[in-house]
Amino acid sequence: MGVVDYGPFGDYVLPFQIETPGIRGRLVRLGPAVEAIAGPDRYPPAVAIILAETLAMGAVLASGLKYDGIFTLQLQGDGPVDMVMMDLRSNGDMRGYARFDADRLAAGSIVASGPVPRLIGAGQMLFTVDQGPNTERYQGVTPLEGATVGECAHAYFHHSEQVQTAICLAAADASLPQERPRAAALMLQRLPAAAPEGVIDPFLSDSDDDWRRAVALLSSVSPAELLSADLDDERLLFQLFHEDGVRIYRQRPLRHRCRCSQHQVEVTLRAFPKAEIEALMVDGRITVTCEFCKLTYAFDAPALDRLYATR
Ligand SMILES: [Zn+2]
Repeated sequence: MGVVDYGPFGDYVLPFQIETPGIRGRLVRLGPAVEAIAGPDRYPPAVAIILAETLAMGAVLASGLKYDGIFTLQLQGDGPVDMVMMDLRSNGDMRGYARFDADRLAAGSIVASGPVPRLIGAGQMLFTVDQGPNTERYQGVTPLEGATVGECAHAYFHHSEQVQTAICLAAADASLPQERPRAAALMLQRLPAAAPEGVIDPFLSDSDDDWRRAVALLSSVSPAELLSADLDDERLLFQLFHEDGVRIYRQRPLRHRCRCSQHQVEVTLRAFPKAEIEALMVDGRITVTCEFCKLTYAFDAPALDRLYATR
């Protein structure tokens, strides 16, 4: 196998502004992070794709929020893939995983069109922003309505009183020959036309036509273009929005990094009575596997004694 060529896919978010007043956007492209989190060695293709899309969507949503902490996006349902989750720290560290029942997945018993109903089933989408102790936790919950992850997001924005938002998502099927794990998201948001009373701000537009036109241009992008390693960001965005002009800001890097640690696992174990933990021992050891990065932490009896002694 040769060197992986991700082209412009280096794990980042690129904010931009369409010169049409009041419309801003963001482009997310993920390559190495998708390979690490949702690579074909970890998941069956359909699960890898839905996880990769969730990573891109979470990244594009989180990057529009001002927060100092952890943004989490979860899709939960009653299907063979009952949980797809990602989180992103404000410093750019991201991780994610999908939980699935391999037998149910292989049986493919759910007859439904679209990956979300078929894989995740009926359920909900949750967004949370956790900024640490003594801060209010923001949470948004919405039923899963849509055939794809992108459609579910649209339904959320449609129902909520949020800023008008349009998103295009794409993820490569890395199980195909010549394909690499990668995902992309392109999002437009209409800024609220809020100006101080009595002031007419010429830079803020509340023209529905402008917004509809921008969304139509956004919708004209194909998944292949979003994922193309040959189409760099500038070319992609100018190709779409050149008539209005587009101003591109600086890339913000993202990266795959898990937050699990020996210390954190110890704290979790200590929250349970020692006898309960000991009852779970297999071959004289208790092992805890991080759901995100699959790293395993093992404790034998002396290690548990030490752990509970320092309580
Ligand atoms: Zn981990």
